Amino acid sequence: MSRFYITTPIYYVNDKPHLGHAYTTLCADVLARFYREKYGKENVFFLTGTDEHGAKVQQSAEAAGLTPLEFAEKTSQTFKDAWSKLNINYDYFIRTSDSQHEKVVQDLLKRIYDKGYIYAGEYEGLYCVGCEKFLQTDDLVNNVCPLHPNQKPVAQKEKNYFFKLSAFGDKLLKALDDSDYKIVPDGRYKEIVGKIRHGLEDISISRAGVSWGVKVPWDESQTVYVWVDALINYYSATQFVEGKKDFWPADVHLLAKDILWFHAIIWEALLLAAELPLPKIIATHGFFTIDGQKMSKSLGNVIDPNDLVDEFGVEATRYLILSQVPFESDGDISLKRFRERYESDLANGLGNTFSRVTNMIEKFGRGRFKQGEGGNQFTAGVASAIESSLRNFKFDVVLLAIFNIISSIDEEIEKTKPWQMAKDGKENAIELLLDKWGTMLLDVSMYLEPFMLETTKKMEDALRADKITKADPLFPRLNKK
Ligand SMILES: [Zn+2]
Repeated sequence: MSRFYITTPIYYVNDKPHLGHAYTTLCADVLARFYREKYGKENVFFLTGTDEHGAKVQQSAEAAGLTPLEFAEKTSQTFKDAWSKLNINYDYFIRTSDSQHEKVVQDLLKRIYDKGYIYAGEYEGLYCVGCEKFLQTDDLVNNVCPLHPNQKPVAQKEKNYFFKLSAFGDKLLKALDDSDYKIVPDGRYKEIVGKIRHGLEDISISRAGVSWGVKVPWDESQTVYVWVDALINYYSATQFVEGKKDFWPADVHLLAKDILWFHAIIWEALLLAAELPLPKIIATHGFFTIDGQKMSKSLGNVIDPNDLVDEFGVEATRYLILSQVPFESDGDISLKRFRERYESDLANGLGNTFSRVTNMIEKFGRGRFKQGEGGNQFTAGVASAIESSLRNFKFDVVLLAIFNIISSIDEEIEKTKPWQMAKDGKENAIELLLDKWGTMLLDVSMYLEPFMLETTKKMEDALRADKITKADPLFPRLNKK
């Protein structure tokens, strides 16, 4: 039986949902929808959630006059709301403050501890609260964390528990070599191999002064390092969500490139230490710039996905985000370009072609289309190309291939001019063309379904109606909305 388990990172509750989160979660949603169609709903597991522990959350909660749990609950809800607004259909939303998750974290660490891979030591170093990590000397730029130049790193010396990461370099290289698990794209894979070959140091996996976290099971004076706690979510969900026990290992961990180190090295080494199977693919995407500039709070150019849905509608927002940037590289987003693409691809392209074809069917009287019956002869090559592109996370390429079908219909309409043919009495020839275009549009609706659920439902309903009539615009012009 084929199964598909896909995860997004669990998002840190100190943050609000932004375009980057939305991108990763949309990619996961499209793949989950695609595989539900292929393998059956019960054989797909799409997990997302929020990462809620750590010193930073504790501090933000205090500043807001809330308990850490109240604070986490509030922000966690903003992620749920954003995903619901984007029509993202995850199977489970995990929260690290959930006691069922905490128990799995403790059990797993105890297992690694019992195998001798965790030891007590003393840690002395500079800690960045912004990153929730100790900084290495070569992380520093002008003596501060480059990501948090306004927060002075804090000198800390404390008893910690350490994980023997140094013992796993060769095992990680071997696993990558045997293709037990893969890191894509290739550039990221090479980066990780380089880092492993450079040598791995043991890492601290507990904190003494942070109370908002999972207690270390054999020493309650310590809490588990927030990253370790968070990474374990991918496994813990399979242990306590009903019916998901057999879903480990995950097929795909989707993430942005800045957290690859944690996923490709620390998480994998923890799994090796616990003698659990490794996930099959770690797929990393790039960063977004907005109008050529880095997205940042201080520049005020952070895009809230909720605002996009308010302007473009959910279906168009999903299309615009996924079609504008290639998965593997950094991409630039511009609202101006979003508006242009909305008009050209959706209002004109898909929307206009669809209403032209249904209008002609109404006028010239043709009518029944079935996917896959004769129709797929026109788009068969596209179907297989879509599947292989999706397997390689090429969402933009998939959308381009589908939209090329739409342009080809449009071009053929212009070339053949059915309204002229009608004047010349060529009814049979018109019928053949309308048969072809109607079937192609039904195929388009099938291919587009994981991306745009509501639009494709409208297309199918219109094309399968007993009497086909000119369709209402699928995408109203922006200035008329
Ligand atoms: Zn930092």
